[in-house]
Amino acid sequence: MPDTSTNQRNANAQPVQFPPILPAHAAVITDGEIEERPEGYVGPNLDPARLELIPKPLGEGVFALLASEIPKDNGGVIVGDRAALVVDAGMNLEMGHQIQAVVHRLTDRPLRFVVNTTYHGDHTFGNAAFPNEVHIVSSRINRASMCDLAREKRIRSRNLRGNLAAIEQVTRWREPDVTFEHFMEIDLGGRTVQLWAFGQGNGPGDVVVYEPVTRAAWTGNFLGHAGVAPMLLEGGPEPYIESLRRMRAALDTQVIVPGHGPMARGGETIDWMIDYLATLDRAVRAGVDQGLTLEQLLARRQPPTAEQLPPQARQHLGDLNRNMDRLNVLATFRDLERRSSRPTAAAASR
Ligand SMILES: [Zn+2]
Repeated sequence: MPDTSTNQRNANAQPVQFPPILPAHAAVITDGEIEERPEGYVGPNLDPARLELIPKPLGEGVFALLASEIPKDNGGVIVGDRAALVVDAGMNLEMGHQIQAVVHRLTDRPLRFVVNTTYHGDHTFGNAAFPNEVHIVSSRINRASMCDLAREKRIRSRNLRGNLAAIEQVTRWREPDVTFEHFMEIDLGGRTVQLWAFGQGNGPGDVVVYEPVTRAAWTGNFLGHAGVAPMLLEGGPEPYIESLRRMRAALDTQVIVPGHGPMARGGETIDWMIDYLATLDRAVRAGVDQGLTLEQLLARRQPPTAEQLPPQARQHLGDLNRNMDRLNVLATFRDLERRSSRPTAAAASR
């Protein structure tokens, strides 16, 4: 239904009209990341120690930077005639420096832009490693979320498997100096890169970087490979589904480079994710209607199977999927609770 107006796919950088981001969503996002986790939860290991970024060419001057260990942070490099752009900055200054070294091996064009797909520290703590003449670009909402470095370090340190030294030297959270609301283009010379913020996803300000020639999209934490559960950290499934529909309507994505995990194909990945979120939403609502507690819901839950995953990713993502799925049940449950305790979300935002 939402895709009836998408026959003209956005091949020529004209921003499509998408529904306004409702104030109700804005009311949810101001609460920040949920810190509660299900009992026994083990999150992804994002320790940057020994992490190497391996360039994978997607087309001339377009590279995915794939983490040597799944599910640590991936990135990207896009090169034009005049300048190069990097997607995401890594968890610490060392990763920021490693990314710059990779760029210098790939091109002699000057690095001018770093795009942050999310505000999370594993994508932004490396910002400070880039010289001042490199612009840091992200959505306005991502920048607004970069307000409490101590809290962000505390939350992200849970993904370091004890290697807290990895982010000890992060004392400055360099914010984006260029921001946009829903869409912007960056002209690298003979190559234009599109930046999109489709609305609430993993976070409130998730950014998708789209390169129209290769039709490759860097999706950060917004969208992973089919079969990889997302993480609902700042709101329930409904607004996330709307944001994914906006992406599907706006972009003819062939290749997806997620912030974590293996690369994926475009359309089927978005469809899988929408289906996962819709099924999750129905299951949690039905459980709440039956009066189930969170613990009962979690006990009944069947996590997504890893069948869609490439074999080399199954061993790294199988158990993680189960953990993220349990987190998503919890987040959806809490979101429903919160919304039923507010008169209306729209009223709360006024
Ligand atoms: Zn991440």
